[in-house]
Amino acid sequence: MKLTGLHILLTYECNFECDHCFVWSGPFRTPALTLPQLDDILHQARDAATVEWIYFEGGEPFLYHALLRFGVRRAAEMGFKVGIVSNAYWASTPEDAEEWLRDFAGLVDDLSVSCDRFHGNDDQVHRVRCAEGAARKLGIPFGAIEIAGEETAERAVGQIPEGESGVMYRGRAAVKLAPAARKRHASGMTECPYEDLREPGRVHLDPFGNLHVCQGIVMGNLFGAPLREICEAWEPDAHPITGPLLAGGPVELARRYGIPTTDGYADPCHLCYETRDALRSRFPAELGPAQMYGEGG
Ligand code: SF4
Repeated sequence: MKLTGLHILLTYECNFECDHCFVWSGPFRTPALTLPQLDDILHQARDAATVEWIYFEGGEPFLYHALLRFGVRRAAEMGFKVGIVSNAYWASTPEDAEEWLRDFAGLVDDLSVSCDRFHGNDDQVHRVRCAEGAARKLGIPFGAIEIAGEETAERAVGQIPEGESGVMYRGRAAVKLAPAARKRHASGMTECPYEDLREPGRVHLDPFGNLHVCQGIVMGNLFGAPLREICEAWEPDAHPITGPLLAGGPVELARRYGIPTTDGYADPCHLCYETRDALRSRFPAELGPAQMYGEGG
């Protein structure tokens, strides 16, 4: 597989606790990466030789501003293109926003800010506008992550695949939002519609070192094996979770391991997430950590 994008979750912690969050972030979620761990990860990304983009996200990465600043500087020095995904909680006025962003001018190639009805009250919209104004003033490319519920939003980057910014029912969304969604029968959910599980171009790395091909599906751990090795050894058909998903989607994952299905799922991710949650004790190395399934600190 040729990995071109590494999305680093600096922390699971966030000042918000959004119902649509794939990774169950919130104010009491832990842990965060340390500076030496982040330095090591960036060196591993360089050694992997194919990575072009490093994204810093979370959780809310600006909660760990010094760590974020270090990571952005180091990644830019190493020649990576650098992105940050944030909710702009820090942009209370144009002046505040400019001050918070000043250190990143000339180093960041994409600042993606959440702007959607889940984050959205008027104050949040104001902060997004302040962040956008400051970014433009400092020459930092800016984009909005717009999650439009059942509709299709126009622009989305960061954690959400480009062009697929409607709600996907993984993580907290599978628990909090799926009950109110229109339901479909499991039998039609015969493929993973969103992630390229065979040749993932971008993957997520969490603060435990877990590398996720989709949030909660672990390919390996960077604190135990180098990124380059994990990528070279990736055999998606032999993986106990991506193997069945590639063979026949979430419905095949459930069938393969004898997990009963019902006749109502909001989307394939909803079935996939519920099935994986039921399989966690059988595949603890591949399905985790507890944070990705709404448990843990
Ligand atoms: S179907 Fe499963 S593997 Fe595919 S995007 Fe949804 S949650 Fe991820």
